[in-house]
Amino acid sequence: MPLLVMKFGGTSVADLDRIANAAKKVQREVERGYDVIVIVSAMSGKTNELVGWVEGTSKLYDAREYDAVVASGENVTAGLMALRLQEMGVPARSWQGWQVPINTTSVHSSARFVSIPRENMDAKFAEGFKVAVVAGFQGLSPEGRITTLGRGGSDTTAVAFAAAFEAERCDIYTDVDGVYTTDPRVSSKARKLDKIAFEEMLELSSLGAKVLQTRSVELAMRFKVRLRVLSSFEETDENSGTLVCDEEEIMESKVVNGVAFSREEAKITLFTIEDRPGVAQAIFGPLAEAGVNVDMIVQNISEKDYDDEHPGAVTDMTFSCPINQVERAKKALEQAQARGEIKYDELIIDTEVAKVSVVGIGMRSQVGVAARTFEALAAEGINIKVISTSEIKISVLIDRKYLELAVQALHDAFELEKA
Ligand code: ADP
Ligand code: ASP
Ligand code: MG
Repeated sequence: MPLLVMKFGGTSVADLDRIANAAKKVQREVERGYDVIVIVSAMSGKTNELVGWVEGTSKLYDAREYDAVVASGENVTAGLMALRLQEMGVPARSWQGWQVPINTTSVHSSARFVSIPRENMDAKFAEGFKVAVVAGFQGLSPEGRITTLGRGGSDTTAVAFAAAFEAERCDIYTDVDGVYTTDPRVSSKARKLDKIAFEEMLELSSLGAKVLQTRSVELAMRFKVRLRVLSSFEETDENSGTLVCDEEEIMESKVVNGVAFSREEAKITLFTIEDRPGVAQAIFGPLAEAGVNVDMIVQNISEKDYDDEHPGAVTDMTFSCPINQVERAKKALEQAQARGEIKYDELIIDTEVAKVSVVGIGMRSQVGVAARTFEALAAEGINIKVISTSEIKISVLIDRKYLELAVQALHDAFELEKA
């Protein structure tokens, strides 16, 4: 029997009517002759509420209990979706992660898949069940405890099931009708893409476009899953939405195909730090140990004999990290200073920054993209604080208050509204 994976995100299962609406889409695929694995998120807002309850109970919470609480949102929707399908005459059964079982690592709150054995679910399909409704975002550790996969993790559950069950396609139903050139909630000029290359989607996701969790794109790329993003609120058919696929499948591509952004950034600068071989290791080693995800890094040119108090070489080191890791970063650096491993005059934290990035595989072969990016921002009077580039992206850190303006300016500069 051909098999499809259909994933419904939080807003698509936000209440009983929306669950019924999603169930109708599932029923239609069953009528077309598919067995279906449905992956559901928690009802919209539920996961945030559960996280709030955990944090309200324990500041330095035990991550195992965080997962136990936070995974529960998806269990509710899985059961409700199975019930709704049964009411419609579709033989459906719900599955929590441990029942499949979805085996993951034991890194609580950001676990990774290890294996998804098919036997239990295959047996249920063989009994005549047409739909398996799986609670997204969760799994089971080798120690037998519930794990979760990181925020937005249901996308990754969907792709992992599509790979494990060799699904014909993995359809991600959400509250927008596809992947756009930028977040359509930020720019009214954003244009829906019919197709996007895995590499570009991977960059867009990791640079902040939350429409697909980064890991889901990684898995789809690795296991050659046909991944599609489409609307749960509109009528859809096999041509709807955006297909995420190999770049060979895309005929027309621009130099830049998307603008992504991340609001929740912070910039940390260590001023007049003693410069010597090993200083970067002395700074970033403790940060890594403290679990800080350092992103962009700039080091100034070393100055010699800056003043009498600073004989020898000194420099400034700046880096960015997610805003919610600032306290952890500060503590790690202060402790390194106290241990005498690094020596700096001042630690300055700026929590009013955001990151904007332009992404396109065409950059590999085209020069001048950086110049065009900087020109567009300069024309709006937006100051760039940090720059980083890779083969297919250019990212800049700017004041958060200019974020929307910058997204719009870059979208215009690369003429993304035009196909
Ligand atoms: P779900 O709850 O279905 O998982 P998410 O909220 O995680 O949905 O992701 C969908 C949201 O992603 C959209 O509402 C949109 O605001 C945002 N988004 C950000 N960048 C893009 C983009 N380039 N294309 C489409 N949506 C985007
Ligand atoms: N409910 C989880 C979250 O809000 C997982 C998901 O929806 O993908 O992050
Ligand atoms: Mg999501």
